This record gives sequence, C-alpha cells and structure tokens, in this order.
Amino acid sequence: MNRDFTVRKYSELLDAFKKAGYNFQTVEDFVLSPLPKVVILRHDVDLNEKAALRLAKNEKSWDIKATYYFRKRKEDFNIKIIKKIAYLGHEIGYHYEDLSSAKGNYEIAIQTFLNNLNKLRKVYPVKTICMHGRSGSPYDNRDLWIKYNYKDYGIICEPYLDFDFNMILYLTDTVRCWNGNKYSLRDKVQTNYNFYFKTTNNIIEHINDLPDKILITTHPEHWTNNLLEWILIKLFEFIHIIYKKYYRNKVVKRNAVKEI
Ligand SMILES: [Zn+2]
Repeated sequence: MNRDFTVRKYSELLDAFKKAGYNFQTVEDFVLSPLPKVVILRHDVDLNEKAALRLAKNEKSWDIKATYYFRKRKEDFNIKIIKKIAYLGHEIGYHYEDLSSAKGNYEIAIQTFLNNLNKLRKVYPVKTICMHGRSGSPYDNRDLWIKYNYKDYGIICEPYLDFDFNMILYLTDTVRCWNGNKYSLRDKVQTNYNFYFKTTNNIIEHINDLPDKILITTHPEHWTNNLLEWILIKLFEFIHIIYKKYYRNKVVKRNAVKEI
C-alpha cells in the first residue's frame, strides 16, 4: 500500500523537487542569500521531537538542510534531540507561543519569550522564529510583535510576518492534507496563488507547474512509516479537526458579540 505522509513519501517529494531543479534552503539561509529556484523546508515540531529527528536524519541522507522550530513544552525543550538535529546541519528556531501561555499578558510574554530564546541559544545561535498557532487559545502569538520588535533581539525573520506569500508559494501539511487550511485557525497566509493539493502525489504530479520559490511547512509527527503510529496520528487528527471546528465557532460567536 502506498500510504501518504510516510517518511518514504517525504523522500519521494524531496526527490521530485531535486529532479525538477529546485535547491533547498533553511529559513535563515534564504533570508541571507535566497537562491533563484528554491524550496524552504520548515518543520513545526508541535508534538514529537523523535519524529523530528527521524525527518532530520532522512534529510541529511539527501544532503538537505531544513529549519526546525521547537516549542517549549511543559517539561522544557528537549535539548538532547535539538542538539542532535543541529549537529546534522539543520537550522534551529523557536516555535513561540508566549502570548497564549501568558494569557495575553504582554510583559510576562516578552520575558518568557526572551528566557526561552536564551535557552535555545545555548545550543544554537537562533536567528529565526515562527509562531505556534495554539488553536485552543484566543490569543494570536504574533500579536506580541504589535508591542515589541523581534529584530531588537537578534531575530532576522518570522516567516508569517516577513515573507511575501504572493512571491513564495506556501504549502502546509495541516491535518495531514495539503489543502487543510479550512481546518486551520492561524496556520494560513494571504496569497494570490491558487494551488489546491490534497495528497503529496498531487504535488509531485504538478511539480513542473509550481513557482520558483516555495515554503513547505510540515509537522514531523505526521510523517511515519510505522503503520500503528500512522493510524494513531490519523485518529488524533480526526479529533483535532472536530475540536478546531468547535473552537472556531466559539471564536466567531465571540467576535460577533464584540461587534454588536
Ligand atoms: Zn505549531
């Protein structure tokens, strides 16, 4: 069976981009010196650092560098795995959610943001950050930058805020399909591009129709060859979709009340 969202399928996708003449860059490398035909590989490590290491090793075998954004979980960063991924040559960034964690308190949020950034910088010289959507929170973590400026803290890029998605095609594997942005509360961008891919094979089939600059976001836990793990993630995603739909209705209703 040719399951989608396996490490094997991920390799097929990388191979197809290579054969179509694309280079690969990290977010940092792209910001500093963008290549003309390029895929920027971004991984949001939401749930499973081991799955991130699995993809990182796979990319290393293809001689490809990607950017891994790590969340600060309750039990702290998984420094051991982060070090291993950095050692493989990948970029490490911070997947921040401090405004949500601080329940909208900006002063606390910027303090925890800086503390967490410093923790990561003991392992890797972090230059780029990317927000975690935190669908269960009423706070958009990017709003922290209404009051503060991440460039004051040595950060050169937040892809959601610094990239022009009319120039860079944005593809994300939200809820294990490539057209799942209707399920996503915040992992979406303003764009004039009209590509709607459901499966990874759909992308591969149309690879020669794609623009020269592409940002691909993946969540490493989605990609596994292990059938049992794959089914468990499918189940988790199903429950997550229902929760997101419920939560979105709550947000819509709350905003409607505010407008009245
Ligand atoms: Zn995330």
